[in-house]
Amino acid sequence: MTVDLAGRIVLVTGASRGIGYHLAKQSAEAGAHVIAVARTVGGLEELDDEIKAAGGEATLVPLDLADMKGIDRLGGAIHERWGKLDVLFANAGILGTISPIGHVEAKVFEKVMEVNVTATWRLIRSVDPLLRLSDAGRAIIMSSGAAHSAKAFWGPYAASKAAVEALARSWADETKNSPLRVNSVNPGATRTAMRAQAVPGEDPSTLPHPSEIAARIMPLASPSETRTRMIYEAKPDRWTSYQMPE
Ligand code: NDP
Repeated sequence: MTVDLAGRIVLVTGASRGIGYHLAKQSAEAGAHVIAVARTVGGLEELDDEIKAAGGEATLVPLDLADMKGIDRLGGAIHERWGKLDVLFANAGILGTISPIGHVEAKVFEKVMEVNVTATWRLIRSVDPLLRLSDAGRAIIMSSGAAHSAKAFWGPYAASKAAVEALARSWADETKNSPLRVNSVNPGATRTAMRAQAVPGEDPSTLPHPSEIAARIMPLASPSETRTRMIYEAKPDRWTSYQMPE
């Protein structure tokens, strides 16, 4: 499916590498003005170079999502410049450490919850009114299989992804009678820095490239996408989707 985002304003968090980089690049290719958020300026600049070389447009926002006031300011700045937001990809995330729950350091647990959960809530709070000002607001919240599976040593990350998916469920229910469509995605194992950290012995060439995964996610940003309250999951051989539980 070719996604047409001409004239749309698309916010992507975690756009400096991995899946977010390709969501941002493909959004620009689809005609959107991309607002790209991450901490690593080098990654954002590389993205900007690629987007500009292809004739697209981006605004780079070097921001640590642990900066909650910065997230509030971002919403204000988007409102001032564009008066609305059409698409949110809440994609940024961190893994923390893979270790038995009893060995997890407090600061690691707190950081994972801060970036994956609190910052996502704060971002939703900041841009919900802007997405409602769009005629076809779309929000895609990045979850993980860890939100559902019992996985030894993945405690903080799994807890954070279960929490963020619950947040997406509530928001999707709150907005179900509006034009805003809220869906959640579990992209499955993808060839990125996070996956290499999570499963160090794995051969990355066996995993799908993040550009492939981004291409599967992009249709959810389309104004013609009508489904909401869905969870999309990548399985090794196919994608599945099901309605968020009532
Ligand atoms: P990467 O580690 O490759 O990229 C993560 C992105 O998040 C980077 O751009 C990073 O930018 C950004 N980020 C992390 N912390 C912060 C912060 N404090 N402030 C701003 N930006 C931040 O991850 P993936 O591309 O693999 O993952 C993308 C999403 O998909 C995540 O939510 C992840 O949980 C989920 N996912 C990934 C899977 C996989 O196999 N890869 C499987 C299931 C889910 P920077 O460091 O520059 O700030």
